[in-house]
Amino acid sequence: MSGASTAAGTTVPVGFAERLIAWQRVAGRHGLPWQGTRDPYRVWLSEVMLQQTQVSTVRDYYPRFLARFPDVTTLAQAAPDAVMAMWSGLGYYSRARNLHRCAQVVVADHGGVFPADARTLETLPGIGASTAAAIAAFCHGERISILDGNVRRVLTRLLAFDGDLASATQQRVLWHLAQSLLPAHPRGDDMAAYTQGLMDLGATLCTRSRPACPGCPVLDLCRAGSEGVAAQFPVKSRTLKRRHESWWLLVLRARVGEVSQIWLQRRPVRGIWAGLHCTPVFASEAEALAAVPGGRSPAVVQVLDPVAHSLTHRELRLHPLLLDVSAGMSLADGRWWAMRELQDVGLPAPLRSLLDRLPD
Ligand code: SF4
Repeated sequence: MSGASTAAGTTVPVGFAERLIAWQRVAGRHGLPWQGTRDPYRVWLSEVMLQQTQVSTVRDYYPRFLARFPDVTTLAQAAPDAVMAMWSGLGYYSRARNLHRCAQVVVADHGGVFPADARTLETLPGIGASTAAAIAAFCHGERISILDGNVRRVLTRLLAFDGDLASATQQRVLWHLAQSLLPAHPRGDDMAAYTQGLMDLGATLCTRSRPACPGCPVLDLCRAGSEGVAAQFPVKSRTLKRRHESWWLLVLRARVGEVSQIWLQRRPVRGIWAGLHCTPVFASEAEALAAVPGGRSPAVVQVLDPVAHSLTHRELRLHPLLLDVSAGMSLADGRWWAMRELQDVGLPAPLRSLLDRLPD
């Protein structure tokens, strides 16, 4: 394994970029709906969608979102609820709010054209360093490295980098190492192939558990892979602790003729399901029933099966309580929505599926 030492004292393998580019062109992923474009709007949208969501899910959402909002101006002019509705089910809703805000900033401050360089892209709402680098490298061939979670894993293994990535300083060191691995003199679409190659390696071979080192195109350049210690990287001391929480969802239903209506409130702008519409949420069944005007005996409440829902920091257990009431009833906050209107409303995914299968 030949290499060059960096200021950080880590040896960087020579020829990594060329090897990765050649592999990507032959064996990497091709034909994903967001590939083969240099349109920053499309690259940006796919990058944001892919941040915490699997490729198989984004394959469905991406074309639907594009069909509804084909360009940055259409997105900027859309109503917030329309954007949320198209995002509903993808989770991490702050991404959708930032997407919308970013589109508005691009239109208002940049004449509807995304800035070309990563440094300026990073100043836009919701665009972090790695997303900015991806847009600049894919669309403009900028010589800059992405460094999302998958790429961190690949590079820490490649370099046997044992700095603790819980530390911002170590993250910066790794970013400088990532820069020193870039193709020295990229031509044509080299930067696009290199960037895609990093993504593909992390997604298909250098996976979190059981990396496929024997079939890896950079095995002989990879310190952790060739020493059989890939599982030891990346090093990160802080582990995520998930909190368990129970929520009672008060599902108030009123029928007007043939039309069923559900009472929804908008969630606060911060926190879980921020900005989405949801049934009223309570910390206990007693609190939920006490909120119903006139009170309700538990006997007339249908207690539906609980639903488990995992979030990054929390395990939620949702307890739906279904109550048929008169359409004249109202709570202080929220309003009635006809069931047929709900397809255009941003709802949390578990609530949407719950409402889809409400008993009569
Ligand atoms: Fe990852 Fe193994 Fe390839 Fe190294 S050799 S980059 S650890 S898959």
